[in-house]
Amino acid sequence: MLPSETYFTGTQINYYIVCPTKLWLFTHNISMEKENENVEIGKFIHETSYLRERRDVIIDNKIGIDFIRKGDKLIICEVKKSEKIEKAHRYQLYYYLYYLKKIKGIENVEGMILYPKYKKIEKISVDEKSIDEIENILKEIEKVISMPEMPKPIKKPYCRRCAYFEFCWV
Ligand code: SF4
Repeated sequence: MLPSETYFTGTQINYYIVCPTKLWLFTHNISMEKENENVEIGKFIHETSYLRERRDVIIDNKIGIDFIRKGDKLIICEVKKSEKIEKAHRYQLYYYLYYLKKIKGIENVEGMILYPKYKKIEKISVDEKSIDEIENILKEIEKVISMPEMPKPIKKPYCRRCAYFEFCWV
């Protein structure tokens, strides 16, 4: 098991996959999210979807689950507005499952990413490979955020939609 200070938030896992510059800026409390229209649209979809489920479950101030379904298994669900950074959504959920299994000892748990706009659902479960990947990502996040300066921005297709666009490129 990794040292406890190595466990980051789900947002940090997501941002590491999206862009290490974004991860560094966010972790160093440089936030432009409130001003970004895309973030507002995401919040609106989140707030107006799946209203009958048990919503917004926060665990250890590390992971914030949009909602949970209980049946034979515990299903943790994330609602996303766009498929554009699908990989980041997937790893964020891998991390939640990893955290619940490894740190909280909760077995029999799976994940679902829901894209209400596209009527699409992706099911996620963790295996040995994804556990190794998550542990490597946690170590890499530690390296990125301990850098004295932000990693140099590298242009990506989604930079224009990023809350930090003006910070990086204007
Ligand atoms: S604008 Fe692009 S380079 Fe800058 S933080 Fe956002 S995704 Fe990263």
